[in-house]
Amino acid sequence: MTAVLVINSGSSSFKYQLIEMVGETTLARGLVERIGSEDAHVTHEVIENGSTEKFEQTRSIPNHTEGFAVMLGAFTAHGPSLDEHPPVAVGHRVVHGGARFFEPTVVTDLVKINIQDLSELAPLHNPANVDGITAAQESFPDVPHVVVFDTAFHQTLPPAAYTYALDAETAKRYRVRKYGFHGTSHKFVSEEAARFLGRENSDLNQIVLHLGNGASMTAVRGGESVETSMGLTPLEGLVMGTRTGDIDPAVAFHLHRRADIGVAELDDLFNKRSGIYGLSGLKDMRDLTVKANAGDATARAALDVYVHRLKQYLGGYFFQLGRVDTIIFTAGIGENSVDVRAETLAGLENFGVNVDAARNEQRSDSIRVISTDDSPVTVLVVPTNEELEIARQTLSAV
Ligand code: ADP
Repeated sequence: MTAVLVINSGSSSFKYQLIEMVGETTLARGLVERIGSEDAHVTHEVIENGSTEKFEQTRSIPNHTEGFAVMLGAFTAHGPSLDEHPPVAVGHRVVHGGARFFEPTVVTDLVKINIQDLSELAPLHNPANVDGITAAQESFPDVPHVVVFDTAFHQTLPPAAYTYALDAETAKRYRVRKYGFHGTSHKFVSEEAARFLGRENSDLNQIVLHLGNGASMTAVRGGESVETSMGLTPLEGLVMGTRTGDIDPAVAFHLHRRADIGVAELDDLFNKRSGIYGLSGLKDMRDLTVKANAGDATARAALDVYVHRLKQYLGGYFFQLGRVDTIIFTAGIGENSVDVRAETLAGLENFGVNVDAARNEQRSDSIRVISTDDSPVTVLVVPTNEELEIARQTLSAV
């Protein structure tokens, strides 16, 4: 038995998953949310023989340390027993590793200081990640803790891809460059696709579309990230659930001068009140496609903007790679939205992309090909599993 506990912590919540690594099966998963409130909510799911039993409770949880104690209580009360499946290590997702971290790293005090130091690049995420690590160390003091960074997979970006054409000294002083995110997912699904196709990853040129609430696209050459759409922060690139993605930076100057909107409000506007939501009032891609298909003009226009940006990036990545073997769709929208996949790849036959409409419409939780058998570019839907990838990397680091 070799179990790994994976933790993904935010400022007022954390998710966890206990994974048995021999068969790579998830034994339990859960979510502790609204930490810091009287009515914090805990969901604990026990997975056995393919069926899931769910337990929920609402109670006061003042901080992450207490949250971990409650999680341990849920394991004791509902299983699986941590005595029978003692985690050999705890793996933590950390959002920003800057240019410093490019491998899964065993946590030391110095590592935590370095993650904290990178908070200026990810003020909402890194401090919360450190709080989660510290609390988890109190609950699991005798096993190694390992951090896996969202940015790590993109450390292979060449300078031409990660450098902004900004005054070089300013960029250097303030560590301004493209870092890229969702790396754990991009790595996982591109490796899964290679394995599924029976090909060497080192021989493949792949384009990965990770389309969830946050969304990013990555060009992967021979298993290495060579271009990606997110930048210094996860705001750049594709249109997302509530984020603008690419926008002329002068829009910020304009709104500041004309409407007297300050930095904090601009941050909020671009990150939380824009994207699909800002365009349509809807946050969920399911609702958007249903309305767009029913003829709602606002929803149609928002979906058109979303797809237009995807095509724009896809075209750019074709030219960066020169030859494309696979296009991979993953995450909530990529795995589930028949419409987004169909509209994004419509009319690309001249570039060797031939989608099989019936295959695209098939629903499944498994990895699958949705292009025709004779399509020069193989299009796949690959379910992502960031927790499993973190667990694999955690194990490799210890
Ligand atoms: P997160 O970035 O929060 O991890 P997910 O990867 O879970 O996001 O993706 C969430 C998105 O997936 C939501 O916008 C949701 O609308 C979309 N989604 C989930 N199921 C479907 C579906 N059947 N059709 C279209 N979109 C879907």
